[in-house]
Amino acid sequence: MLNEKTDIKSMTLSELEVFITEVLGEKKFRAKQIYEWMHVRLVDSFDEMTNLSKDLRKKLSERCVLTHLEIVEKYVSAIDGTAKYLFKLSDDRIIESVLMHYKHGNSVCISSQVGCRMGCRFCASTLGGLERQMLASEMLDEIYQIQKDSGERVSNVVVMGTGEPLDNYDALVRMIEILTHAPGLDISQRNVTVSTCGLVPKIYELADLKMQITLAISLHAVNDEKRRELMPIANTYSIEEILKACRYYYSQNNRRITFEYSLVKGVNDSREDAKALAALLEGMNCHINLIPVNPIEERDYRQTEADAVLKFKNMLEKYGRNVTIRREMGRDIQAACGQLRKKYMEQSVKREG
Ligand code: SF4
Repeated sequence: MLNEKTDIKSMTLSELEVFITEVLGEKKFRAKQIYEWMHVRLVDSFDEMTNLSKDLRKKLSERCVLTHLEIVEKYVSAIDGTAKYLFKLSDDRIIESVLMHYKHGNSVCISSQVGCRMGCRFCASTLGGLERQMLASEMLDEIYQIQKDSGERVSNVVVMGTGEPLDNYDALVRMIEILTHAPGLDISQRNVTVSTCGLVPKIYELADLKMQITLAISLHAVNDEKRRELMPIANTYSIEEILKACRYYYSQNNRRITFEYSLVKGVNDSREDAKALAALLEGMNCHINLIPVNPIEERDYRQTEADAVLKFKNMLEKYGRNVTIRREMGRDIQAACGQLRKKYMEQSVKREG
């Protein structure tokens, strides 16, 4: 429910069928028509659903809400065409999403919460805490609005923007179900990545759903002590517990796990760290993604230099690990997680003050 109206974009087709027949007293086939308007034609209003009678459209607008996002700002990188969007939700809160162009297709990085309560020390998104959870429909809207605005099909979705997706588990799973089934955008589950800081019980729950999505773990440190310095979640779950959950995930889904490792100068980027990371992931079918961390003003973390990043990578490869360095996308438009939204919010405060 949203403003006491029903959020029908967050419903699966079978749920919508029940709602349309049992609550609105309409014929079942209407559900499929409405579903297609929302998830294939991506319309923003009931008025655009022109094959429905006026009466039904009126009934829908009285009883239901159709979420949509307003583009507040959009920045396009002159370097690589990466587009960063600031969207306004129906309650005027601001979120951000990114469109990246790769050889294999267009990838959208979406937010899953407004703000975040996980408190990772290197992340700008968490500085104001968690404002609220996002609805499944609002997460879908990020993808839909970008596809409409760019005029290009989105082929990959990464849930790696603001928020901890597994802290908004039910809405996340619902969003993936709608996104990866026909009728709808019908994106392959293999093209969906969910990145978590390591909420262990939720990793087990997700594993049991046997979806073919890629699980990415924000690891960032090689032992619990170091990880606790960077990520408060490490006080709750140890690296060993996370790795055990990952092995379980692999056993259920046969999907290679990705480990994200942000390199922070002088904190976790030494030769010893590389060796320890290689040892930690010994025998796991996984992939390591090295991320040169983006400096944020409020915290005194600096970026590891490019040649040191390369050395770290080479060291891991020497031990037989599968590694890539994440390409920096949209460097000229502050495309790193949370930066643009934070800047916008600060400017709004100034404007209002
Ligand atoms: S890195 Fe992710 S989980 Fe950690 S604070 Fe930022 S948004 Fe939250």
